[in-house]
Amino acid sequence: MAKVLILGGGFGGVVAAERLAQQLSDEHQITLVSRNRNFVFYPALVRLAFGKCKKEDVTFDLRHAMLDRRVNFIEAEVARIDPYEQRVTIAHGEVEGKLPYDFLVFALGRRLATERITGYYENAHHLLNVDKTIQFGKAVSNFHSGRVIVGQCEGSRLPVPVYETAFALARLVKERGEQERVRITVVSPDAPAAEIGAEAGNAIQRALRTRQIEYVSGFSINSISANAVTTSSGRALKFDLLMLLPPFRGSSASSYLGITDNNGYINVDGTMRVNGHDGIYAVGDCVNFDGPKMGHMAARQGDVAAANLAAEIEGHGPVSHYAHELRLVIDDAGSDGIYLHKNIWTDEPATLRHGRFWSWAKRAQKEYWEVSHS
Ligand SMILES: Cc1cc2nc3c(=O)[nH]c(=O)nc-3n(C[C@H](O)[C@H](O)[C@H](O)COP(=O)(O)OP(=O)(O)OC[C@H]3O[C@@H](n4cnc5c(N)ncnc54)[C@H](O)[C@@H]3O)c2cc1C
Repeated sequence: MAKVLILGGGFGGVVAAERLAQQLSDEHQITLVSRNRNFVFYPALVRLAFGKCKKEDVTFDLRHAMLDRRVNFIEAEVARIDPYEQRVTIAHGEVEGKLPYDFLVFALGRRLATERITGYYENAHHLLNVDKTIQFGKAVSNFHSGRVIVGQCEGSRLPVPVYETAFALARLVKERGEQERVRITVVSPDAPAAEIGAEAGNAIQRALRTRQIEYVSGFSINSISANAVTTSSGRALKFDLLMLLPPFRGSSASSYLGITDNNGYINVDGTMRVNGHDGIYAVGDCVNFDGPKMGHMAARQGDVAAANLAAEIEGHGPVSHYAHELRLVIDDAGSDGIYLHKNIWTDEPATLRHGRFWSWAKRAQKEYWEVSHS
């Protein structure tokens, strides 16, 4: 009998748990540990902020969903892992102390590195949890004149909600007839082409121009006051409302093990196995791969890790390899969506599509997650 421990109840951890439950026989024990029993469907948070869906549409109860799949769920805070003793230290929660494992899937996502930006908590709105999203939505409802800045910091690697927020704001301002009174500015440390490739980058720049959204690239924020964002070189922009995605780092639970890059992201091979550690896999935002960090990547990595872990338990070699693909859908609140598909590890040309279908497809994906986990 093997004890499999999965850390983290996001896209990566949930898919790994589900696939393992399908692939392993009942004699093996599968446990998922996460700090919160609610799964959050982050791609829908911009829609939540703009009142296009409700709080209960973007979360589901993990314990309930996991029990159905014979996965034990423990709500608890992971402090550290010890790969030599094969134990995970739990700081607090439904259990405390050390949990032993034979095989581990690390899927703890990443942590905010707001310590890098002075004044972030006091002065910026963000979309990184449901309550903060609702708070931003209320601020938008009460905002009728002035400049709104939407953007991301160096190391956010999360462009989709920035552009979706800017497009949703432009639509709202137009519906209210407030175009003369509201100015929308997107700020980014990189040009979109550098982040998501030339094809999608150009499409986004065109979409921003059509909606009279100002775009400031090469703007790497390092401090925020009550009414201005400032870069390390002293460039400043004034705002009346700010939605800013912070920098991130890898999870602190793995930072001291010598398995990460300088930003704390875990080094894995194409089978999702942690370099130099048998029986340990890592998936999702926590791994050290190039480009934006996205939920569909975490889900695919969870799938690959589960297939290889199940094979390892049965005494076989790896059976699945990950291809690092970017599949990006930028929803424009119901009209023209933008879809990009690109293999980040090859030089093949990207596929770019426009149309209402893509906004619809993104909502359908949310509904699929809701239905299949409720
Ligand atoms: C506003 C927003 C919009 C987005 N839009 C898109 C989109 O359109 N398309 C897309 O593909 N991606 C999108 N993303 C990115 C996507 O949500 C992430 O890439 C995805 O959530 C990563 O999954 P994960 O499982 O690696 O990590 P997470 O989803 O972050 O899950 C990590 C889990 O581990 C738990 N955890 C963390 N630390 C601990 C600890 N110490 N102890 C116990 N539990 C812990 C967390 O509570 C969480 O449940 C968006 C993200 C945001 C914030």
